[in-house]
Amino acid sequence: MPDIITLFTIEQIVQNREHVSAVELNDVTFGYGDTVAVEGVSLSVEEGEFLGILGPNGSGKTTLLHLMIGLKQPNRGVVRLFGQRAAEFEDGERVGYVAQRATDRGDAMPISVRETVLMGRFPHAGHSRIGGEDRAAVERALDRVGITDLADRPIDRLSGGQRQRTFIARALAAEADLLALDEPTVGVDVDSRTAFYDLLDELNAEGMTIVLIEHDVDILTTHVDTVACLNRRLYHHGDTASFLESDAIEEAYGRRSGVLDHHV
Ligand code: ADP
Ligand code: MG
Repeated sequence: MPDIITLFTIEQIVQNREHVSAVELNDVTFGYGDTVAVEGVSLSVEEGEFLGILGPNGSGKTTLLHLMIGLKQPNRGVVRLFGQRAAEFEDGERVGYVAQRATDRGDAMPISVRETVLMGRFPHAGHSRIGGEDRAAVERALDRVGITDLADRPIDRLSGGQRQRTFIARALAAEADLLALDEPTVGVDVDSRTAFYDLLDELNAEGMTIVLIEHDVDILTTHVDTVACLNRRLYHHGDTASFLESDAIEEAYGRRSGVLDHHV
C-alpha cells in the first residue's frame, strides 16, 4: 500500500491539480430563440488533441464550435478556454479560427496574403509598431504553409485551398495554440484537400490542438484522434476507433433520440 502512494510524487500531484484542457464544455446549451441548437453538451479537448466534429446539416456543429472558442455564450453551462471562462478569455490570438465557407466569400478583399498574415501579429505588437520580429514571423508562417510565392497576391484572387492556407498562416503568425476549422475544404479540389489535411496532420504532430468540422466521415476519421458526433445532443464522444465501432452515425443521422456513448 505505501508503495503505491509513493508512486505519486509531489510533482505529479501538482501537475494533476494544474491540468488545464484547451477547451472544456460543461453541460452547455444554446438556442436561437426557441430553436435549441446545442443541448447539454459536455466534453473536453486536451492540448495536442485533434478532435473532429461530425453531424448532419443543421445539427449544431457550427454553433458548438462558436461556443467552444467563445464566439457565442451558452444559455446554460460553462465553457472554458485554456482554463479561463470563454466569456472572459482575453488571449484571442491563441485561437485561430477558419470560418465555414471562407473559401467562397465573394466580396472583394484588396489586401494581400502577406498583409492578411501580418494581421496575426497585431496582438503581439500591442501598442508598439510592427517590427522585424513580426515580419520574420510572417515569412516563417508563409513558408510553413507553402504560400510564400503567393505573398503579394490579393486574397480575393486565391483558390479555396490557398485562401485556407492563408488563414492558417495568420494563425501560425499569431502563435495560436488552437486551430478551429469549420468545413475548411468545401469547394476545394481533391488534391488540394489531401495536401491541406497533410498540413493539418503535420501541425498537430508538432503540438497544435485542432478542432475540425468535416462532413466527410472517411476523411475525418482518417485524420482525427477523437470524434464528437452531434445532432443537437452529443451522440458519441470518444477516440476514433470507438466511434467507428459505435452506432452513433445511424443514431445521430437517423433519429433524434439515442443513447449517449461517452468513452473519453
Ligand atoms: P450545422 O453547422 O451543423 O449545419 P448550425 O450550428 O449552423 O448547424 O445550426 C444549428 C441549428 O440552429 C439549425 O437548426 C439552424 O437552422 C439554427 N441556426 C443557426 N444559426 C442561426 C441563427 N443565426 N438564427 C436562428 N437559427 C439559427
Ligand atoms: Mg455549419
